Amino acid sequence: MSGATTSPARPTIGVLAVQGDVREHLAALGEAGARAVTVRRPSELEAVDALVIPGGESTTMDKLVRAFELYEPLRKRIADGMPAYGSCAGMIMLADRIADARPDQQTLGGIDMTVRRNAFGRQVDSFEEDIHFTGLASTVRAVFIRAPWVEETGDGVEVLARVEEGPAAGRIVAVRQGALLATSFHPEVSGDHRVHAEFVEIVRTHQ
Ligand code: GLN
Repeated sequence: MSGATTSPARPTIGVLAVQGDVREHLAALGEAGARAVTVRRPSELEAVDALVIPGGESTTMDKLVRAFELYEPLRKRIADGMPAYGSCAGMIMLADRIADARPDQQTLGGIDMTVRRNAFGRQVDSFEEDIHFTGLASTVRAVFIRAPWVEETGDGVEVLARVEEGPAAGRIVAVRQGALLATSFHPEVSGDHRVHAEFVEIVRTHQ
């Protein structure tokens, strides 16, 4: 891949494409002003300015990331400061700690937080809600699908959004730490690209 089309104004952002809703993120990133490409190999990871980790199933994604020999390269790039955005299962992958993990499940880490998998429980395991998101002028339609929530955050983590209604009101569902962004919900399925645009802006200012 040539880096020639990458520019600060239009950064190249990879979408981790081992499992999950890759296509929706590619489309949302394109709408938000990035050059969006899939990442399945270490060489493809090296060529991107930033990475999106999509929703899907974090236990499967964890296994596949290791099978594709991406685990160490991903950990290293994140530790070295590459901007990354994880939605749902991607949020779990970016968490330093998980509650309700499978016994051998590992994360890539990066954000100083504990994320609880499948936190909303069976009865409300999928739902939608309009929530306020720090930095956005109007509410975001948040789609939760067997979503995690953030149970605890370290000092360097900024809370961007919380559930506002129902039994889970107050639970943290969007965070940022430096150039790392994570949401429990799936903005890529809502047709609203403002969360992706926020991430593209993080990538631009990071360069
Ligand atoms: N429950 C899934 C997991 O633990 C996440 C669901 C999703 O990404 N929509 O990975």
